[in-house]
Amino acid sequence: MEDGEEGEEYLFKIVIIGDSAVGKSNLLSRYARNEFNINSKATIGVEFQTQSVDIDGKEVKAQIWDTAGQERFRAVTSAYYRGAVGALIVYDISRRTTFDSVSRWLQELSTHSDTTIARMLVGNKCDLDDIREVSVEDGKSLAEAEGLFFIETSALDSTNVQKAFEIVIGDIYNNIS
Ligand code: GDP
Ligand code: MG
Repeated sequence: MEDGEEGEEYLFKIVIIGDSAVGKSNLLSRYARNEFNINSKATIGVEFQTQSVDIDGKEVKAQIWDTAGQERFRAVTSAYYRGAVGALIVYDISRRTTFDSVSRWLQELSTHSDTTIARMLVGNKCDLDDIREVSVEDGKSLAEAEGLFFIETSALDSTNVQKAFEIVIGDIYNNIS
């Protein structure tokens, strides 16, 4: 990427991965449009959303990709990962199995990426604290072991959603500037 002279633009591709129904599509719609959808079947449609962020007075465009449900069949293609410089790896804090899948998603990510990727481990649905199956400590220690950022979010009540994306975008920016 070029260095930041005036008028220059940055475009970062960021992918969202993780098991089915962890809230990937809702994290994106909350971040990009401030919308939440109760019905998970509403996922179909857009491949990505582009969000403009201002960093150091420069316009950074985050092109954030969402799966169209193909993760259900473990059929996320290499085209999905191609050119990604950031990733959110999402699990659902109320479903342990989705946390157990994180290492497989990390493996898949590293198989398909040829550059260093800014990676954020995201424990979503933190509003469901009363039926939590994954502790904050478990999330933190996995992130530490794998060298990932870590955050818990709720696409439902908006907790940390913006922050999760902005940390990733900021890290990508710092690494290239
Ligand atoms: P995806 O398959 O990973 O894209 O997951 P979706 O975004 O389609 O969400 C799956 C289901 O979880 C839907 O019924 C959502 O309404 C629900 N959901 C998503 N995020 C949250 C959240 O933060 N809290 C709660 N309680 N439910 C959520
Ligand atoms: Mg989805």
